[in-house]
Amino acid sequence: MAKLDFTSSPVVDSHCHAFLPEKETRPFETYLTLSDLPQRHEDVASTMLHHMVIRELSRILCVKDEEKIIAERQRRMKSNPVDYIELLFDDAGIETLLVDSGYPFKETVGYGIDLNDFAEMVGRDVREIFRLEAALYGLLKGLVPHDQAIEDFRAQIREAVSDGCVSLKTIIAYRTGLAVKPWDESFVKSSWGKMTAMVREGNRPAAILSERNERNKSVYDSFLIAGVEEANRLNVPVQIHTGMGDSPSMDLRIANPAHLYDLLQDPRAREARLVLTHGGYPYLEEAAFLANAYPNVYIDLSETIPIVSVGLRNRLLTLLEMAPTTKIMYGSDGFNVPELHWFSAILTKKALAAALDELMNHEGLAEEEAVNIGENFLTGNAERLYRL
Ligand SMILES: [Zn+2]
Repeated sequence: MAKLDFTSSPVVDSHCHAFLPEKETRPFETYLTLSDLPQRHEDVASTMLHHMVIRELSRILCVKDEEKIIAERQRRMKSNPVDYIELLFDDAGIETLLVDSGYPFKETVGYGIDLNDFAEMVGRDVREIFRLEAALYGLLKGLVPHDQAIEDFRAQIREAVSDGCVSLKTIIAYRTGLAVKPWDESFVKSSWGKMTAMVREGNRPAAILSERNERNKSVYDSFLIAGVEEANRLNVPVQIHTGMGDSPSMDLRIANPAHLYDLLQDPRAREARLVLTHGGYPYLEEAAFLANAYPNVYIDLSETIPIVSVGLRNRLLTLLEMAPTTKIMYGSDGFNVPELHWFSAILTKKALAAALDELMNHEGLAEEEAVNIGENFLTGNAERLYRL
């Protein structure tokens, strides 16, 4: 039995996504996996994550039997999403959501979500995270010449921050990987020129930007370095996707945060606060090492939470082996359905209590200190880092 209890603690979800009830088109269980590939129902429904979500839904909906639980969930979500989301978010103590507006992105999935409408629907404080690749997409689509594109890119960042964005975010790990390095400017310019020429020839910008080659890498790397420089100037952090992600587009081999070595040495990135989003899972130890070694590196555990399900207590203990407790943050990476935002917080509160109990029992951690660490993980560290 856990001694510590964070059940009623408030939560800042430091990385998640907006969702629209009317865009839910698939069976509920398919939203509990990171795969875009068709999966057999019995496989998805057999994960520990699925079992745990169903169990918590049974508790909150007061319904037994899996089929009836899902049916009741569908009924509530369709008939009155506002009330249903309120029930979930109140249960989890979610107060603030930092929303990565890069997904859903109208140009790639066919719809976007206005964050004011989303904030109204969920009834919480919602802050935007600005996705750098969305800006890059617009510049390529608009056929903006290279020098102008870099200028416009920086200007868009400044405007986003002055409009209230609390962080920048990059998914370069999905594209050309985390081994970001400086490139010769003339090479970048010619790469950009080739890409705009391809758009002129009728190729889709999204298809061009998905290619993994030297040409794209030089462009992604250079824009990211410019973005990091701008973030530092504006005193906002940059969330960097690290580790696992949507499959098959994520190539895990280039998403290990250890690949960030060159970027971390770059004088333009030295002072900028970089957040290793998703904790680099399964490279959590690499992420923890970087947060320990570099004063400007932070970690959020979104996506690792809730995907690691029964493993979260152990993952938190692994993180605490090296990562300073002042630099680690909660996040859900919830997307498409509100249950991911909700369940992640519920799961975390239990696992956090269990992990800290263990440190109190076996390592002599004082209770006051343990409570502090837990509360900083759930809210305090994010409030300070993102100046909420
Ligand atoms: Zn995300």
